Amino acid sequence: MARRRQIYEGKAKVLFEGPEPGTVVQYFKDDATAFNNQKKGTITGKGVINNRISEYLMTRLGDIGIPTHFVRRLNMREQLVREVEIVPVEVVIRNIVAGSMAKRFGMEEGTELPRSIVEFCYKSDELNDPLITEEHITAFGWAAPQELDEIVAMSLRINDFLCGLFLGIGLKLVDFKLEFGRLWENEQVRIVLADEISPDSCRLWDVKTNEKLDKDRFRRDLGGVEEAYQEVARRLGILPESGPRDMPGPETMQ
Ligand code: UDP
Repeated sequence: MARRRQIYEGKAKVLFEGPEPGTVVQYFKDDATAFNNQKKGTITGKGVINNRISEYLMTRLGDIGIPTHFVRRLNMREQLVREVEIVPVEVVIRNIVAGSMAKRFGMEEGTELPRSIVEFCYKSDELNDPLITEEHITAFGWAAPQELDEIVAMSLRINDFLCGLFLGIGLKLVDFKLEFGRLWENEQVRIVLADEISPDSCRLWDVKTNEKLDKDRFRRDLGGVEEAYQEVARRLGILPESGPRDMPGPETMQ
């Protein structure tokens, strides 16, 4: 097979030209970074698990009518997605105080928020993804007001759906980051969910013990990093335990 052309290499993924025009192949690496690239490492098997978790969540979101860039998983580490123009804004949705929010306001991690809060950061490694407001986004033309409205409405719907989905398998969705893109279809442009949703981009805590089952285990040197990613996949019922045909489906918690 001819070597595909690489379009972009990010911290956790590589993008290749897809088999047809308007498609892209996302390759999930085991590389992990934190604190804007200051901490680097490898989480063995992370790429395989994140590819599956993101496939699962994007598919479930597609089922409830959220438009996404996801087409299909190709193999262990790759998925086919639609080519989009990424909106240079990271959307963070928070349900419980953690991470940078705890630091910013001197709040205790784990404090429940009175309602879900949506934050925006400008995607720029050089600037360390600064926190921005909707005013910056529209004034600088990163997204049109109507696009931004769609992004916020979709983000809140995604949050409601994912909170329920994770609660069903005994996990609290503390916070997570989304990215959106513009998809061109017959002269029409629409906003779709892009990038990935995985324990790299979500904080997930066990409902009973508050054990962290996400990238904070890597960021904070808590150990058991690989096992945490596997546990999320296992609870979602997408970690084959004895081969690809053994997929039990989600394990409902009482
Ligand atoms: N997040 C992410 N990519 C980023 C920044 C944040 O996926 O570049 C996710 C992170 O995993 C967490 C949420 O967004 O689930 C909120 O992150 P926060 O702002 O607290 O920053 P952090 O503490 O991760 O630096």
